[in-house]
Amino acid sequence: MRIWESVVIGAGQAGLSTSYHLRRLGVEHVVLDADERPGGAWQHRWDSLTMDDVHGVADLPDAPAPGRGDEPANQVIASWFDEYEQAQELPVLRPVRVDAVTDEDGLLVVRSAGRSWTTRTLVNATGTWTHPFVPTYPGQRDFAGEQWHTVSYPGREHFAGMRVLVVGAGASAVQLIGEIATVADVVWATRRPPRWSGGDFSGRAAITAVQERLDAGLPPASVVSVTGLHLRPQEEAAARTGVYGRRLPIFERLERDGARWADGRLERVDAIVWATGFRPALRHLAPLGLRGPRGGIPLRRGGSDVQTTVTSVLDPRVQLVGYGPSASTIGGNRAGRAAARAVRDRLDVELAEVS
Ligand code: FAD
Repeated sequence: MRIWESVVIGAGQAGLSTSYHLRRLGVEHVVLDADERPGGAWQHRWDSLTMDDVHGVADLPDAPAPGRGDEPANQVIASWFDEYEQAQELPVLRPVRVDAVTDEDGLLVVRSAGRSWTTRTLVNATGTWTHPFVPTYPGQRDFAGEQWHTVSYPGREHFAGMRVLVVGAGASAVQLIGEIATVADVVWATRRPPRWSGGDFSGRAAITAVQERLDAGLPPASVVSVTGLHLRPQEEAAARTGVYGRRLPIFERLERDGARWADGRLERVDAIVWATGFRPALRHLAPLGLRGPRGGIPLRRGGSDVQTTVTSVLDPRVQLVGYGPSASTIGGNRAGRAAARAVRDRLDVELAEVS
């Protein structure tokens, strides 16, 4: 049986950065990725999200990020990742969707549809895209119209002439309203008031806020969700309709024709767009029991930069990158480097124990 020094799960920015650094540190590893093609979650983002629309994509180690422009991010970034994997000769296997990771006699066994990889260490880089979150409301099943989540947003033309309820207080909601409100009548509802600000995507305060949740043992909020929102030129046409100023608090229930508020107000809509975010895609790690009593996965503080806090407190063989404070392209890069170093250190300790 072959025993790998490390297995990386996921080949988005965080997984690629990890693999790059593992190679440099001489760690024998394989990267297992569920997608058919390179591109991480970016390849699945909606077609109208151009490079001008993204907040900012960090360079990969030794490879500058593509510039801005009106080409779709889902193509540009996917091609960039593809070239990167080839140029750096990263050992990515796909499509391999990991179902479970188990602990067997002190080694980690990574399983996917009848195949398995046995490894001394694991770096999880599975992002959030495959775990969209839709809150539940009374009457949700009675609603007769269409329901979409950001993950499957079909483009603005689909909503032409409709009345659309957009739910969510984050950057995706603001961006999707910016599109939809130019062709449809939009009602915007949020559970909490949106946080408008200068809009520094990788803002320190936002990242620290996510880290504080982890330190308190809670599951992380997304960095994007705690970063201040701002309207960009792309949202100007929608802003002129006044849609952003007509935001409503969250409704009480859904009915056949629309949403009902506690004061009896009914908004009839043809479609609901849930821009309600994502959760970390970690189901396959459940057998390892990494969660603490409050639902979060505690990570060992790695120093002053919280984006490099990656090592599981409960199982130091496991690193989590692109998780919590490192869930951004720059965070994924930094976490990848930190995780590779932690893996190297762990293997060195094991070697020292054996000899
Ligand atoms: P991903 O890119 O999600 O990659 C995860 C990979 O893991 C995928 O390839 C997937 O196939 C694979 N995978 C998942 N589950 C499994 C499994 N069970 N087995 C095997 N493989 C699996 N960040 C920025 O810095 N700038 C931005 O402008 C920005 N815009 C964003 C816009 C949106 C709409 C969203 C949702 C996020 C945005 N982010 C942005 C966040 C950013 O995209 C990610 O945090 C960053 O790209 C790091 O990605 P990742 O490597 O953690 O995960």
